Amino acid sequence: MVRFNDSDETRTDDATRREDGDATPGEDDATRREDAGLPGEGDGPAWEDGGGSMWRLYATYGRGRTVQFATGVVATLLARLLGLVPPLVLGLTIDGVFLRERPYRLPLVPAEWVPATALDQLALSIAVIAGSFVVGALFSWLQNWGWNAFAQGVQHALRVDTYDAVQGLDMGFFDDRQTGETMSVLNNDVNQLESFLTDGVSTGLTIAVTVLGIGLVMVSLQPQLALVALLPVPLLAAFTYGFVRVIQPKYATMRASVGALNARLENNLGGIAVIKTERAERFESARVADASRRYYDANWDAIRTRITFFPGLSLITGLGFVVTFAVGGYWLLAGPPGPLSGSLAPGEFVTFVVLSQQFVWPMAQFGQVVNAYQRASASSDRVFELLTERGRLVADADAPALDVTAGRVEYDDVSFGYDDEVIVENLSFAVERGETLALVGPTGAGKSTVLKLLVRLYDVDEGTVRVDGTDVREASPTSLRAVVGYVGQTPFLFDGTVRENVAYGTFDASDEEIEAAAKAAQAHEFITNLPEGYDTAVGERGVKLSGGQRQRVSIARTILKDPAILVLDEATSHVDTETEALIQRSIADVAADKTTFAIAHRLSTVRNADQILVLDEGRVVERGTHQELLAADGLYADLWRVQAGEVDDLSSEFVERAIRRRARVEDATTDGGEDGDAAVEEGG
Ligand code: ADP
Repeated sequence: MVRFNDSDETRTDDATRREDGDATPGEDDATRREDAGLPGEGDGPAWEDGGGSMWRLYATYGRGRTVQFATGVVATLLARLLGLVPPLVLGLTIDGVFLRERPYRLPLVPAEWVPATALDQLALSIAVIAGSFVVGALFSWLQNWGWNAFAQGVQHALRVDTYDAVQGLDMGFFDDRQTGETMSVLNNDVNQLESFLTDGVSTGLTIAVTVLGIGLVMVSLQPQLALVALLPVPLLAAFTYGFVRVIQPKYATMRASVGALNARLENNLGGIAVIKTERAERFESARVADASRRYYDANWDAIRTRITFFPGLSLITGLGFVVTFAVGGYWLLAGPPGPLSGSLAPGEFVTFVVLSQQFVWPMAQFGQVVNAYQRASASSDRVFELLTERGRLVADADAPALDVTAGRVEYDDVSFGYDDEVIVENLSFAVERGETLALVGPTGAGKSTVLKLLVRLYDVDEGTVRVDGTDVREASPTSLRAVVGYVGQTPFLFDGTVRENVAYGTFDASDEEIEAAAKAAQAHEFITNLPEGYDTAVGERGVKLSGGQRQRVSIARTILKDPAILVLDEATSHVDTETEALIQRSIADVAADKTTFAIAHRLSTVRNADQILVLDEGRVVERGTHQELLAADGLYADLWRVQAGEVDDLSSEFVERAIRRRARVEDATTDGGEDGDAAVEEGG
């Protein structure tokens, strides 16, 4: 995981992050997951959600952005206070200069500065009002700079951190989650925070200052009328509280339905070819419409509440204004109404009316802030949930690096299941450097699973996998993966050039090394025949290459890595037999000083292996060399005969078992299992 600190080795990260964050000082030391008590890969305290994820957000990610935050706070306060100047000066000028009801004075202006003539006094008032607008504009700019820089910086750091955290999770997490769902959190939910991060605190402050400032001015002018004018405040508070209670769950539902919709879209775009070949367009359109409708409903439900809330707020503030106007107006004409007493000048009345108008806007804003807070908080919960997600695989941050010398790999009584069902049971074997161990057996027997345990894509439930005597769980995962070269069943290429894909993981390889690896993987020739050779773009997931070509690029990638341990899981299943034989020869050279594991559907490719383990339902049913296994005349011999086309010589036991297996695989497929196409392959 990338940690953001000031040490030299993380400079590149900081540099990349600064590219788009140059307006935000303090960017590079902003995020310290560790300081903030956020867990690293699989450790640390779990996120306890008490609705306080927003607090956590500010405490964690606000820390490195105090300059922006403080600028925002100070500028907001000053800008708002300056906004109170014009109405106050207006009232004082009406009463002191025009009507001469009160002596002319301006707060904070020393008495000796006040001129004697009415015209000069008017000029002073005009100057003060004009000055307040000019300085107010400056503070308003600063206010916007501060809050936007703060919000963008927090979002950027949060996005990067959340991605890092997700990337560090083990495969179990990705098996259970929809990609679109996770993307939705990484993207939509992080973006959703923007509105509150930008305006939340500033509007909250504005409201506080406005209410306090207006309240103070009003109370100092005429306390009794002030009481009348401030009547709406508690009403507004109660009304808003009610709104929050109602809207909160609605926003949570809404965020979840966005995630579900994204997952659907992601799935469909990924499987577009299947949708077309299966003529499932209408079916999928209906499913998308369904997911969209759910989002629509959730959104609409929240909107209904929201659109009632804002007019409600306006109504309450409007009523407050009407009451102030009525009471003040009556007071001016006929003296203090009802239980009220004291004096009220026309200028004071004007100040009151204008100030209670100024109330309306921040109160409406108040609603927006509460609303934005609720939305942000629903998103923030989801982001922190992801940020603090813990997988099954627990990595010790201080685990020592694995040092391979002898290259001996040993499975000691290993058992494993993805969920409750046991997939691999009591498996034991050992392989030395220079040897090849082949795993064969029917589809679904657990062959791939066995090898995934070696690179810790999953961790064993029982038993131990050791490399040179070290339990793989006790070595740092990065060092383990540095010594194991893994060619998976479905090679994945990144959008980029062929060269970049071969060099993926060995980023500092020279062009000569890349070509040598491609030659060994029998890929050089087809690559040079591509329109732009090694610089040809392979398209998303490598769609512009054939399956066999992708496999060869993937093998070249592993050969280039030159690992001590080589894992080939059906690595040549998509290439023609001729090319396969050539690759086989190169791999034999490459593997001479390596510990090699191979899974192959075509048994001819593993007949020379030093050991062959025949797996069935997660158990070793036979082991030996090719000759020994043929002589034993068991499952291996049957599989061999199937591939040789000698279908008539199969043992009846094998035929029965094959039928049972097929039934099982089909069951799994109808249950939503993922073995559908593999099952067809095994059907022969
Ligand atoms: P093989 O390589 O022998 O064809 P696998 O190791 O791929 O078999 O799969 C063994 C069993 O584990 C199968 O029944 C398969 O459905 C199941 N399985 C494989 N991957 C997962 C996973 N990520 N989550 C749950 N079950 C899985």
